[in-house]
Amino acid sequence: TNFQVAIDGPASAGKSTIAKILATKLNFVYVDTGAMYRTITLAAKKNGIAYNDEEKIKKLLSQTKIRFEPGTPVQRVFLNDTDVTDEIRSAEVTNNVSVVASFADVRSNLVNRQREIANSNSVIMDGRDIGTTVLPEADIKIFLVASVDERAQRRYKENVAKGITTDLETLKHEIEARDYKDSHRQISPLTQAKDAILVDTTGKSIDEVVSKIANIIEN
Ligand code: C5P
Repeated sequence: TNFQVAIDGPASAGKSTIAKILATKLNFVYVDTGAMYRTITLAAKKNGIAYNDEEKIKKLLSQTKIRFEPGTPVQRVFLNDTDVTDEIRSAEVTNNVSVVASFADVRSNLVNRQREIANSNSVIMDGRDIGTTVLPEADIKIFLVASVDERAQRRYKENVAKGITTDLETLKHEIEARDYKDSHRQISPLTQAKDAILVDTTGKSIDEVVSKIANIIEN
């Protein structure tokens, strides 16, 4: 039978970094649900659709070919057969994805696909509503958090590594704005599931967090 690990939490708390390492260790399929919401957002951009145009985005869901190829450690996403795995990480997509992710049709379409993957594989799935909505019966639920200052610092370093210079304060505000939208939307807002284990990664190394969660899973 399949095993399900749900990892939820605010933006840049380290969910995908940790989930990828754990998935490789445990030989589970890693499912990055944020990438799915990002792909719809990128599709809207490419089709010249305003991010808040719910009707047009709803049509887009049936008219565009969006494919998710689950994989460990990297899940690839395709838009009309073009690999957009890297393109969905742009600042424009990041700063507009929360609006697109608030629409009912977008969520039900993607939640169905996420459940299908979890039905046929043991998964580590990360997102905002995995433990509360997508996989309410998950075997292990983790709620990963870190201080906003530390999350902005991590983003800043990632950007520097990519050759992008951004201002730390701007990054902090962008993270806070996204968290606010994700926790205040009507449908399955970001919140810790009652049976989720809270893990605070502030001041902890990746290794420390990985072994802490691996212990939780193995015991
Ligand atoms: O995880 P990531 O930061 O890539 O997610 C991008 C955005 O997608 C989130 O800010 C949120 O708006 C949306 N999302 C969501 N539900 C999920 C995963 C992501 O609404 N399960």
